[in-house]
Amino acid sequence: MAISPRKAWGIIRSSVKPLGSIRKPLRDAFGYCLAQDVRADRDMPPADRSAMDGYALRAADLTEYPCNLRLIGEVAAGSAAHPKVRPGCCASVLTGANIPPGSDTVVKIELTSLNDGVVSILEPMKPFMNVRKRGEEAAKGDVLLPAGTVLSPASVGVCATVGLARPKVRRRPKIALLCTGEELCDVSQPAAAHQTRDSNGPVMQAILAAAGFDSVTHEIVPDDQQLTIDALKCATDSADVTILTGGVSVGKYDYVPDAVNAIGAKLRFYKIQMKPGKPLLYATRGRNGHIFALPGNPVSVLTSMHAFVLPALRKLSGQSEENCLISLRLPLTRKIRSKSGRSLMALARVVNRRSGPAVEPVDSVGSADIFAASSADGVVVIPAAQTELPVGAIVEFQSWRADS
Ligand code: AMP
Ligand code: MG
Repeated sequence: MAISPRKAWGIIRSSVKPLGSIRKPLRDAFGYCLAQDVRADRDMPPADRSAMDGYALRAADLTEYPCNLRLIGEVAAGSAAHPKVRPGCCASVLTGANIPPGSDTVVKIELTSLNDGVVSILEPMKPFMNVRKRGEEAAKGDVLLPAGTVLSPASVGVCATVGLARPKVRRRPKIALLCTGEELCDVSQPAAAHQTRDSNGPVMQAILAAAGFDSVTHEIVPDDQQLTIDALKCATDSADVTILTGGVSVGKYDYVPDAVNAIGAKLRFYKIQMKPGKPLLYATRGRNGHIFALPGNPVSVLTSMHAFVLPALRKLSGQSEENCLISLRLPLTRKIRSKSGRSLMALARVVNRRSGPAVEPVDSVGSADIFAASSADGVVVIPAAQTELPVGAIVEFQSWRADS
């Protein structure tokens, strides 16, 4: 019995558990998911600091203008000097320097003049200005990044700021790709008239690389029962996730469902009410081995990778569930008809209109049409119960772009 795409994701979601944690050097940690809370190791800033190049003074001295103060020393950024600023005095400070004891205000250099060791503040200024107060950004012990955060460039900066050289992150899955099909040949081989070049392998490698998954093997497997069983067993022995394409339907040479059974994997579902991509199989082996078998047509592979496999890989990598399957809601530029009675995943691209972004359907001649798919950047999801989405309808758009 075919199930709805929503039910399929529900089954995958509840059987996929985040992988264990490892420590990563900060320079390699970008894009990983934190497996620990990151806390401030000290107040930030750790002392009252100057936000300007100028002079540190006492606010109480700002009584008349020009205000003349005796220059008693200098604190450069990184200097541990702490000349005491007494009434009627000031010290030169540079941006990022701790302001010296006694001072509470910084006047920027542009508002002053210096003659014979006396600084004159020419224009009236507010007291306590230009000082970053100790702890104003964070207090020691504050949680700055909760576990589950995906490390962005800025959050890598947070780790560096609090001295976390090797954050604890979730391991990412090892992935094995098996492209089944007697007709397949590698891109580097000449293709005879009866052969098809394997495009699914390179497509999946590119999708995975764009999402940061770098432990990926790839193999072409001919349509042979024993070879399919052997390849699947070998892949699932070492990978966390095995993704097969082709051979999963009801054709005479479709050996994948039997191979899944033969290696003792547990079938979780087979077939989704979805077009393209109906004969999709999901099984588990052992405690954390996952098998996704996708129909071989290239557009089905693109669609099901983004709708089910990538979200599962994100969950394995520690991302929170609401961030695993992201879809946008955008207006439609042209109507789309569906007569399938299953959820239709229609190729579409994002266009920028004066009123903002919208989605435009991309015509295709079917689920083998990789050329049409290459000018799409995702799919519009048309629910099974709907036969038409009119112009201007706000529709669900699943983006294939790694940056959205
Ligand atoms: P299958 O799901 O095995 O029946 O394959 C469906 C269609 O997808 C067939 O026309 C296959 O030739 C094609 N196909 C299967 N695998 C690939 C692949 N790796 N690259 C390109 N086309 C493929
Ligand atoms: Mg096949």
